[in-house]
Amino acid sequence: MSSPLLPPGIEPAELAWRDGVPESVRFGDVYFNRDNGLEEARHVFLQHNNLPERFAHVDESGHFVIAENGFGTGLNFLASWQAWQNHGPMQGATLHFVSVERFPLTRADLTRALALWPELQPLARELIEKYPPLVRGVHRLVLAEGRVRLTLYFGDINEAWQSLDFLADAWFMDGFAPARNPAMWQDETIEQVRAHSKPGTTLATFSSVGRIRRALAEAGFDVQKTPGFGRKRDMLRGVLPADGQTNGNRPVSIAVVGAGIAGCTLARNLAERGFPVTLIDSAKGPGTEASGNVQGAMYVKLGVEFNDQTELALQALTYAQRFYETWRGEYWHPTGLLQLAQTPQEADRQHRFLQRNHYPREILYPVNREQASELAGVPTESGALWFPGSGWLEPKRLCQALADHPGITRTWDVTVNRLLPCNGKWHISGADGTTIVADRAVICAGHVSAGLIPVKGEFRLKSIRGQVTHLPKASLHNPKVVICGNRYMNPALGQIAVTGATFDLHDANPLPTTESHQENIRQLTAMLPAILEQKSAEKLDVSRLDGRVAFRCTTHDYQPVAGPVFNGRDDELGDLFLLTGLGSKGLTYAPLLAEYLADQLTGQPACLPVRLMRRLETRRLYQADVVIS
Ligand code: SAM
Repeated sequence: MSSPLLPPGIEPAELAWRDGVPESVRFGDVYFNRDNGLEEARHVFLQHNNLPERFAHVDESGHFVIAENGFGTGLNFLASWQAWQNHGPMQGATLHFVSVERFPLTRADLTRALALWPELQPLARELIEKYPPLVRGVHRLVLAEGRVRLTLYFGDINEAWQSLDFLADAWFMDGFAPARNPAMWQDETIEQVRAHSKPGTTLATFSSVGRIRRALAEAGFDVQKTPGFGRKRDMLRGVLPADGQTNGNRPVSIAVVGAGIAGCTLARNLAERGFPVTLIDSAKGPGTEASGNVQGAMYVKLGVEFNDQTELALQALTYAQRFYETWRGEYWHPTGLLQLAQTPQEADRQHRFLQRNHYPREILYPVNREQASELAGVPTESGALWFPGSGWLEPKRLCQALADHPGITRTWDVTVNRLLPCNGKWHISGADGTTIVADRAVICAGHVSAGLIPVKGEFRLKSIRGQVTHLPKASLHNPKVVICGNRYMNPALGQIAVTGATFDLHDANPLPTTESHQENIRQLTAMLPAILEQKSAEKLDVSRLDGRVAFRCTTHDYQPVAGPVFNGRDDELGDLFLLTGLGSKGLTYAPLLAEYLADQLTGQPACLPVRLMRRLETRRLYQADVVIS
């Protein structure tokens, strides 16, 4: 049996295939009924939670949450997705499926297991395509164009249910048989099932063991024994008695201030969930400030320690890779990315990073100097970490494409100067006299965000100037992949390749300068001496190069900020949210943080563990010594 892996790796399931049906070697049990797993899933879990009928009553822009103990082959998930397709609302509404798996199947095993169900093939293909790499933690998969959202926790069940913030409408309790897999049926687990339920939540399980029945009853469920599937005599179904209340507290309208990558990913996300959004920007269109470059690398630096910060970066990276697939070949160019071991310090850091962590090869692996040069198509001076699924984007065009959705009202040329709460709504005033009224407002305005928060006090947000340089393609040995070190270098787009950016802490000059171009070229050639094509480079007149200046917004701890705004340290300011501080990693962080904030704004299950949610909170931005009156 496989031994535990270094973080963030997780041991995959070991399967034995008997008559084409998968069994767990570790637990000595089948994943589903040998006679007909799909019919069993429908009988036990769908029918006894009354799902087809309940799906039909979900309204557009509503949602339904199924939670499951034991993801296994994903068969229950696909059966639920199919039922949602057949019985759920046609558009807008979201089926959330929250599941946990301690020993995930490899993609190859998943493919083989799901091949057993021809009628589920289109859904299975999409799941397999988006199936996450085998690393611990939370993975959010957005499927069926956002109609289905899978939150998959790779790790132990009790840890999962303590980490995730959601309330289920229906539970599938599907561990292996209690005698073989007691960890899935402990009293503690049943308490967690109860804690994530609300009045009216139902549950079903194939097991009819007396101890489990009693524990569920003790937790408050009305439990019944009913006939099981096939040769199984009994199973259990249960319901938490309802008090007649419904959860009808849905926000009607949401305003997003700022149409950079943060605002555009958020507006698009909400619109796809069926919520009307007004997207406001002072410019004549989206993507004009820090997200306005023609090229940008999708990049994170993963820490040597697998701590919260690293986990967030990793989750953001893998989420962004899935998110941008829609625009592959358009604005997303997954060429792969090299993170060079440019200096002895960085080489040592990479060495320690590789010794202390286990990352699947689909995320990254080390390459030596020859391999790096071969991948790059340009000689490099050192080895590197190779990120095969990363690459570069066209941020400006991407922002434009994201903002182009019928659910988004685009409001350009409005410079917001005030946000005020009034009668339970937010009034957003523009310098030109425009007022936009919305139930909820989100500030995604990068380095001008702090000035818009209607709370007295100092926020630890700062702006950092960054200048990029447009190098003529003719002056380059054009790389095949993105190369990162002290600078990044993209493969050319048309006649130019973008390199950069400077990092000027106390410089507010909005115009490109020759000095900054010189600095970019000096750093680039130090990183990649062979990058400039000798003859044309000699003719390069730096003072005539094109480039662009923008201001990144970062926080004091260089971590992003996403969540409700607090009036002081404890008092949440009703329905006002902040999403910014993405620094130079906005392309990587924005999709995940937009997903997370959209979860919060719509009251849907969170795609981040509570630990990481805390790291993103806005109140850490308050100066410690500021007292808010
Ligand atoms: N629902 C699955 C399907 O549709 O294919 C079948 C689930 S199978 C019966 C039970 C699953 O629980 C297995 O995949 C197993 O690896 C997982 N499991 C066992 N112990 C666990 C634990 N402590 N935490 C989380 N998952 C666990």
